[in-house]
Amino acid sequence: MRRWNGWGDEGVSVPVAPEALVHLERLIGPGRSQPDASLEETLARLPASRLSVSDPLLSTEPAERLRHARGQSLPDWIALRSGRLDWAPDAVAHPSGLDDIRALFRLAAADGTALIPYGGGTSVAGHLTARPGGPPTIAVALDRMSGLGRFDERSGLATFGPGTIGPRLEAELGAHGRTLGHFPQSYEASTIGGWVATRSSGQQSLRYGRIESLFAGGHLEAPAGGLALAPFPASAAGPDLRQLVLGSEGRLGIVTEVTVRTSPRPAHEGFLAAFLPDFAHGLAVARALADERAPLSMIRVSTAEETATLLAAGGRRRGLRAYLRYLGLRGIGSERCMLIAGVTGDDRTVRAATDALHQAVRDQRGVIGPAGFGRAWAADRFRSAYQRNGLWDAGYAVDTVETASTWDHVPAIVAGVTGALRDGLAADGERVHAFSHASHVYPSGSSVYTTYLFRLADDPDETLRRWRILKAAASRAIVEGGGTISHQHGVGRDHASYLPAEIGPLGIAVLADAARRFDPGGLMNRGALLDDDEVAR
Ligand SMILES: Cc1cc2nc3c(=O)[nH]c(=O)nc-3n(C[C@H](O)[C@H](O)[C@H](O)COP(=O)(O)OP(=O)(O)OC[C@H]3O[C@@H](n4cnc5c(N)ncnc54)[C@H](O)[C@@H]3O)c2cc1C
Repeated sequence: MRRWNGWGDEGVSVPVAPEALVHLERLIGPGRSQPDASLEETLARLPASRLSVSDPLLSTEPAERLRHARGQSLPDWIALRSGRLDWAPDAVAHPSGLDDIRALFRLAAADGTALIPYGGGTSVAGHLTARPGGPPTIAVALDRMSGLGRFDERSGLATFGPGTIGPRLEAELGAHGRTLGHFPQSYEASTIGGWVATRSSGQQSLRYGRIESLFAGGHLEAPAGGLALAPFPASAAGPDLRQLVLGSEGRLGIVTEVTVRTSPRPAHEGFLAAFLPDFAHGLAVARALADERAPLSMIRVSTAEETATLLAAGGRRRGLRAYLRYLGLRGIGSERCMLIAGVTGDDRTVRAATDALHQAVRDQRGVIGPAGFGRAWAADRFRSAYQRNGLWDAGYAVDTVETASTWDHVPAIVAGVTGALRDGLAADGERVHAFSHASHVYPSGSSVYTTYLFRLADDPDETLRRWRILKAAASRAIVEGGGTISHQHGVGRDHASYLPAEIGPLGIAVLADAARRFDPGGLMNRGALLDDDEVAR
């Protein structure tokens, strides 16, 4: 069972290492643990359902509505932990197929009701929560439309229901000796439909590609009709409409079927660590490897702050101090930065990838680390998200912001975003711990992913106010630094006001036209991706 007010499976808990809490306390002060509202209290305070119709497809049961009311952004956490939800869907539907979805469109059109497609509920950009005061809303949960429908062995194409979550998808492909290779950190809970709708990126996108390159076709059902996308390997038949569906965030309709390009399961999967004298040297390694198209599956370079935090989060590892002393003797001191690289494939590919990595690290005066660092990263690659639970319990809020830009902008964006976050609460006398990594590297640039932590306030509204200040400061730093407002999390409601700066008035008008064309009655996920005013114009 998923936690209703935190991350992940209730049966899994990943404690925060005492060393990490000491590190954090030194940087931003002792955490301010706050009491959580119980499930019963939260259900009792849930706004009443305003739905006037009843239908066998709809449940207005409070627990159902609560479980589909929020995603995983920090404002979502604040609302759930404090039990203060000013909005919840008025009903939840679990359609079993196209007929049910069409029935929901009819019902919504007749009743002036809005619809929000709900995949795994792992959005971190406010995709799933409408503003209070809008029309009654139905969350359309896609969990019943899941699993492998067709597998075309010869073409390696697999067609899934949109509600298929990562582990099920990989297990079903594994039975055919295949993998999708799409592993976002939220893999345990996020769905293939959600990945398409938010333009998601998996940790090993360097080998397998982002969801854009894995998404071969499928079906979008919109209030205005169906859009079938044939899984051609390539086509010159005008603009690629798959690109309109990718990133559509439930605004145009519901992705009801996803056909993906799969790969053979790799014979070998491993992760190696390297240490570089500083972040600039780390970036130089990443750039060189991306430029020569080295066959690695992942390159991730942490800043000095992130490296120190990751080493502290790993707890007391035997031999760590001695190893850091050794690095010091090799000229890799307190500014050291850790690079994690994925080596995936057959023996030949793994050998070529490892050789390329060793050479690039040597060229930048770095050192390949002991195997334990890479193994530890791999063991924690999905588990580290669970630490958000323990950090919250210890009185710390955690959030992330992310972007991508060309190599010339990357260093300044890292400095700008972390700087804006660190200074963001100075007026309140609060410190913020912010640290970044560059990952998802491309020949022309890289993503920048920044995590930040600050102390919870006694009043949840005050924590939310602080988050707003920090989010705005970081988003401004991204835009001013020449980055995209999102490399992988999407736009949602939290980033919608920054999109016009990125794609201009004509770009916004084209998206608004598309929303009107697919969804003339304005039923679909209003306020996500685009401001409603843009679509009304
Ligand atoms: C701990 C954590 C780690 C994360 N790591 C990553 C990462 O490594 N890479 C990454 O890309 N993202 C990551 N994310 C963000 C999130 O997991 C992705 O945005 C993911 O793609 C969302 O999928 P979902 O199924 O949970 O969609 P939801 O959160 O349910 O929905 C997201 C949006 O997509 C729409 N939608 C969902 N399904 C459909 C459908 N079938 N048809 C139409 N619209 C639909 C919804 O209406 C909503 O607008 C992370 C999130 C968390 C909490």
